[in-house]
Amino acid sequence: MEMLSLIIPCYNEEQVLPILYEELKKVASEMKDNSFEFIFVNDGSRDNTLSVIKGFEDDSRVKYISFSRNFGKEAAILAGLDAAEGDYVAVMDADMQDPPSMLPEMIAAIKEQGADSAATRRISRTGEPPIRSFFANLFYKILNKTSGLNVMGGSRDFRLMKKEMVDAVRELPETDRFSKGLYEWVGFKTVWLEYKNVERAAGVTKWSFIKLFKYAVNGIVSFTTAPLKLATLLGILSVAAAAVWTVVDIVRATLYGSWIVGLDPVIIAVLAVGGIIMLLLGIIGQYLSHIFNEVKGRPEYIVKESNVYKK
Ligand code: UDP
Ligand code: MG
Repeated sequence: MEMLSLIIPCYNEEQVLPILYEELKKVASEMKDNSFEFIFVNDGSRDNTLSVIKGFEDDSRVKYISFSRNFGKEAAILAGLDAAEGDYVAVMDADMQDPPSMLPEMIAAIKEQGADSAATRRISRTGEPPIRSFFANLFYKILNKTSGLNVMGGSRDFRLMKKEMVDAVRELPETDRFSKGLYEWVGFKTVWLEYKNVERAAGVTKWSFIKLFKYAVNGIVSFTTAPLKLATLLGILSVAAAAVWTVVDIVRATLYGSWIVGLDPVIIAVLAVGGIIMLLLGIIGQYLSHIFNEVKGRPEYIVKESNVYKK
């Protein structure tokens, strides 16, 4: 019998976990051809998430990994991948926005189409502020254009993978992990399933705009060096503009005698050039900080308690 490992990152999810667990039991009982393990990763929750998870412990399928603090969803996903023993591994949110009832469809898609993973994307973003959808779409456009990857807009972390693909993802050593990019980077064949956005079953979203912005910057910096090339491009443009300006000035001075203008153009030029340099320094700083993080080589997460821990 093939085993399916379900990885559920949880951060302050005490309200929704009982609902999710009931649903998981239901789905598992319907999928008679598979055995299951449910890996709950408690990402340093401040509420009773851990004790709620421990309440399911009578069920031998329930495994948990509890971090020493909040390390972020990416770290929680990685911890789950590290612990998973199934032939198939799925990552899903705790809030049922990734409907567990799609699992049979996902397995079937992998088998029928000879794929290695079944990924999901939302085709609607109802219930989400429009400004957030706008920036999300913009982010995927920039990322794909500059990195050569093809990360689908609206793609979720909700995905079912075969063990081989999981092993490939797990072996990538980077500390700043952007899973959606990593899944693309390792290759393998992915089928895409679409579904309409489902609103959170209970509790509140854990993602602030700032957190999402950092996530986006991390995604871009992890997968493309295109922004670094901006410096060269803008440098060339700026030197070219200066050269043209000089020629124009010389011609103007010879034809009409000297020409005195106010300070405005000078101030504008100083601000513009200064601004561009600062922006580029900031971009270089982003890459530098990533190199810094990788070089330190700290673990992505620290487990405080668990009933499976192996790493
Ligand atoms: N999550 C996590 N660590 C964090 C933030 C979120 O493990 O620091 C988990 C959260 O518990 C949930 C999933 O990641 O299972 C997605 O979070 P959420 O539903 O808040 O995000 P949204 O669906 O609003 O994008
Ligand atoms: Mg959610």
